[in-house]
Amino acid sequence: MNDIPSFLAHLGDVPVVTDTDTVRRRSRDMSTTFSPIIRRDAEGKFADLIVQPRDMRDVIAVARAAALARMPLMMRGGGTCNLGQGVPLRGGAIVDMTGLSGIVWSRDAMVRVQAGARLLAIDEVLRPSGWELRMHSSTRRAATIGGYIGGGHAGIGSCGYGILRDRGNILGLQVVSIEETPRVVELRGDDVNLVHHAYGTNGIICEVELPLAPAWPWMEVVANFPSFMAAARAAYALASADGIVKKLISIDDVPNWEYMRAMAPLGRPGWSMVRCMVAAPGLEALRGLVAEHGGQIASEAREGQGPYHAPLWEFGWGHARLQVNKTRPEIVNNIGLYLDPDLLAAVERSHRRFRDVGGMHLESKRYNGQIAFQGSPYYAYRDEAQVAEVIRGMAEDGAMVANNHTYFVRGNGMKAVDARDADFKRQMDPHGLMNPGKFDAEAECDAPAGSGVRLPATGWKYATGTHDSSATA
Ligand SMILES: Cc1cc2nc3c(=O)[nH]c(=O)nc-3n(C[C@H](O)[C@H](O)[C@H](O)COP(=O)(O)OP(=O)(O)OC[C@H]3O[C@@H](n4cnc5c(N)ncnc54)[C@H](O)[C@@H]3O)c2cc1C
Repeated sequence: MNDIPSFLAHLGDVPVVTDTDTVRRRSRDMSTTFSPIIRRDAEGKFADLIVQPRDMRDVIAVARAAALARMPLMMRGGGTCNLGQGVPLRGGAIVDMTGLSGIVWSRDAMVRVQAGARLLAIDEVLRPSGWELRMHSSTRRAATIGGYIGGGHAGIGSCGYGILRDRGNILGLQVVSIEETPRVVELRGDDVNLVHHAYGTNGIICEVELPLAPAWPWMEVVANFPSFMAAARAAYALASADGIVKKLISIDDVPNWEYMRAMAPLGRPGWSMVRCMVAAPGLEALRGLVAEHGGQIASEAREGQGPYHAPLWEFGWGHARLQVNKTRPEIVNNIGLYLDPDLLAAVERSHRRFRDVGGMHLESKRYNGQIAFQGSPYYAYRDEAQVAEVIRGMAEDGAMVANNHTYFVRGNGMKAVDARDADFKRQMDPHGLMNPGKFDAEAECDAPAGSGVRLPATGWKYATGTHDSSATA
């Protein structure tokens, strides 16, 4: 039982929301839509109230009050995460960070922003200067930069710049500890990855410093190919074409694109689809590449001007699934990583294996300096045993597979976790109040038998820092 009166007494005048409907609604993230397993595991788990800090003074007040009253905290930006990060396991206070949304400074192709700034809003401010974020999630409109760092990992831009975790993609993080006298800590260099993808378990991110990319005039291209492997080969050729600057390469086997209402008119029956964004100077070269692979271009448009009534990035990454779920809500996916040197062969094995299960959806990104395709078949959910079978099949085909049906940091397998992470967690959150229960799946026993954490995911391995997959094996 959380000591709410004590927390409120220490909080001062920081705005608080206690309306039950709002608190229950904000105690859910997108995972309850994306994973029937997490939806089940999240049942009955709600926060007690919401706090809405307006500035750093308020953030420090929240951290101090939580430490004094031993009140659990659940950090929240846009609430769009889809791995159960935003489901509070032990009640407590949701900390809505959207009140801290300013640009601190921008110069020399770098920007420093407050954690609650939305990704699209940041780019709108930067664009007139000729710069933009190197990458963003497909939830760009709603997601905050603090939530992207805390719960995301890659996205539109990752086919050029790699993943958030890659050295140089996050320059600095200002983080506040949850102690009776909160500390403001600046992390730089590789230390930023202690907090990245930690689900808000080891400090309140208040400011984020990032390198920028040139804001090209982006062209959106939808192309169709007579077979899935022709589409995959064309996507691979584009991913490797150093002379074409690109931001998005999404591949969908039939019938995935047919399920996307706005995209279906652009497809060809029985063909597979590649959707990509390239810098305008690369358009002519892209046309040649598509023709060389036997493809046909169905649409070319400037960013946001396509005939599908939304920017193309809202048909990629997590949004591809979202678009499919609008007509086929029962469809789920896994997060597999197909890597070179054998990427296309591994993808072909999975395509053959899952032909009768569902169409493959893949996104291109760079990973450990190599080209990678991330995805899985899109398939109609039956039960946990079926998800386990798909994960096993993908791993047999050569993919590293994360577990997107658990809300535990370690169990998910996308973050490299070692003793340094445990030590940092103890320093920043000595009373174990931040998103409690999520950091270490092995120490967490309140997951019901057969819950997502026991799926046979392999986790991901990184060149620097190896993930300990014992929790997922
Ligand atoms: C349709 C869809 C598409 C998606 N596409 C992508 C994608 O392309 N790439 C990708 O990487 N992810 C993607 N995601 C997941 C991704 O995590 C989010 O979309 C987004 O970046 C999170 O931002 P948010 O502000 O909504 O964070 P929230 O959901 O609010 O929070 C995410 C996590 O970070 C923590 N957190 C939030 N703010 C702070 C803070 N200030 N300090 C410390 N911790 C904090 C939260 O506690 C939570 O654990 C997608 C999800 C959906 C549903």
